[in-house]
Amino acid sequence: MNTQKKIQNLRDELRQHNYNYYILDNPTISDYEFDMKLKELQALEEANPEFFDENSPTKRVGGTITKNFNTVVHDFRMYSLDNSYSKEDLLDWEKRIKKMVDGEVQYTCELKYDGASMNLTYENGKLLRAVTRGDGVQGDEVTANVKTINTVPLQLKGDYPERFDIRGEIILPIKGFQKMNEERIANDEEPYRNPRNTASGSLKLQDSAEVAKRPLQCLLYSIKGNSLNISTQFEGLDKARAWGFKVPKEAKLVNSIDEVLNYVAYWDEHRHNLPYEIDGVVVKVNSLYQQEELGFTAKAPRWAMAYKFKAEQVSTKLNKITYQVGRTGAITPVANLEPVQLAGTIVKRASLHNADQIEKLDIREGDEVYVEKGGEIIPKIISVDLSKRTNDSQPTEYIVNCPECDTELIRPEGEAKHYCPNYSSCPPQVVGRIQHYISRKAMDIEGLGGETVALLVNEGLITNYADLYELTIEQVIPLERMAEKSAENLVNGIEASKQIPFERVLFALGIRYVGETVAKKLAKHYKSIDALMFASMLDLVAVDEIGERIAESVVEFFSSEENRNIVEQLKLHGVQLRVSADKLANQTEKLKGQTFVVSGVFETVSRNELKKLIEDNGGKVSSSISSKTSYVVAGDKMGPSKRIKAENLNITILTEQAFLDVLR
Ligand code: ZN
Repeated sequence: MNTQKKIQNLRDELRQHNYNYYILDNPTISDYEFDMKLKELQALEEANPEFFDENSPTKRVGGTITKNFNTVVHDFRMYSLDNSYSKEDLLDWEKRIKKMVDGEVQYTCELKYDGASMNLTYENGKLLRAVTRGDGVQGDEVTANVKTINTVPLQLKGDYPERFDIRGEIILPIKGFQKMNEERIANDEEPYRNPRNTASGSLKLQDSAEVAKRPLQCLLYSIKGNSLNISTQFEGLDKARAWGFKVPKEAKLVNSIDEVLNYVAYWDEHRHNLPYEIDGVVVKVNSLYQQEELGFTAKAPRWAMAYKFKAEQVSTKLNKITYQVGRTGAITPVANLEPVQLAGTIVKRASLHNADQIEKLDIREGDEVYVEKGGEIIPKIISVDLSKRTNDSQPTEYIVNCPECDTELIRPEGEAKHYCPNYSSCPPQVVGRIQHYISRKAMDIEGLGGETVALLVNEGLITNYADLYELTIEQVIPLERMAEKSAENLVNGIEASKQIPFERVLFALGIRYVGETVAKKLAKHYKSIDALMFASMLDLVAVDEIGERIAESVVEFFSSEENRNIVEQLKLHGVQLRVSADKLANQTEKLKGQTFVVSGVFETVSRNELKKLIEDNGGKVSSSISSKTSYVVAGDKMGPSKRIKAENLNITILTEQAFLDVLR
């Protein structure tokens, strides 16, 4: 079989598996087998760049950087919908419809997904572009990011129109959202507020590889286009399904407004059984002919109506306010509630965020409070029922001292949170830092868990993460639930962590605001902990994408003698505190300060390799040509509009060979 055919077959096969998994929820091969096939395709594509296809299943992993999102005018305006909140509203709507159209009216009822609206344009079965709703007339083009969403087909199936728009909602399923938040909490980061904002925020991330990591989904509900050969809304949903889109099967065709009301009542009660959030129901006149007769008002179609559910709230008693200390010393107040049923779960605690929040709502112990739940892990308090407040009620006095170590709290200027400054001996901070150090994304120490860390600290065996490297099997065995074998694993796991590369060690140190991505950037720029340790504020903010807040935190971290000592200890124990030599050998600063745009298909290197070459040599890669572009590296089949733009801006266009010569 020739290579092109082989690539084509693999792409088709992977598309089908993707469809089985994400659209039908019915995978027929294991994740491992899927990954192997994907790797095989990746390798073939890299070796044969002439068969490049921007809609290949390998493009799902992202990697495109978008600095500025282009504004695109929608071919068909994206109207908003009129809202209704009661049975009467819906009955009034029906009356208005019956005055304007003759004959029976059927309705399509659909769930109102709570996410970010999106318009996808397909041409010849391929995704051409994805544009956010924006103001309804024009939105932002976010194609690179949307391509990473597995439920968005890159290549359609069956008998699709030549060109059409399809609208849907990008959502974050509740489980995926909770998992993302659990990770953030483990990293001592503020959890995301709700799935909807997180989904819409994801679409505007600059790095599509970051978007690919988020478990977003796209649920479709409306097709727009010319000569589509579709006569009802419900038929449109069926067709979209057949072309490979994810269209939830809860949509229902009904014959009367009474049936609409039944649908509304059913989902108001059962919405918490869905894997994603909905905030209501959308009702549409089913016949497109009747829709046309009804037309639009200035801002909304007359043939559709959104029915909004009431946000679910309950009232309960706030028994006590307690305070948690995170690994960075951040204090989080927590409301301990009289347990109450809300949105399908029993709620016992609610987040109070910070002192300002408590003061703003004047929340007091003993109050009857209203609690609301979005997709948050813990719900929030909306307001206080002042009519139930007793005469002896006292305003909440925010704690002054740390609940764990009694040190006086500080509140840095411009920050909402209080912190315990007792860095070196506040127990949750000490334990939390070591727990962070050993965590999966940091040093990933096998055989050592969070509870064992707490035990080790309590027993006085360790006081910081450098102490881990001095632990012996004999010291560990006497610990609770520790057998000889597990003690051995623990010590071996710690030993093995000496091979973890510098960038992850840097993340593991737990410097505030130095997350995984920032750690990578700093490691790449400074190449060793020694260089980073001596970097000044000015030095640091000069590094790409390092802001003042991070710079300040890094300087502060290394200004502590204790931290410097711990780092020295790590060094003595052989932990990787510089970029390894072979990685360094391929890196230069030759392209420093230059911004490149890469376009077209290349002969000797793949597009990704080319981008990596630019970055390894100190250059920046951007996805669109602007006055800030230094060079365009053009391969075969470079887009004509890009070429014109580059020429208009007088930007030098380099051939692949010319670029490689510059590097040599
Ligand atoms: Zn403390």
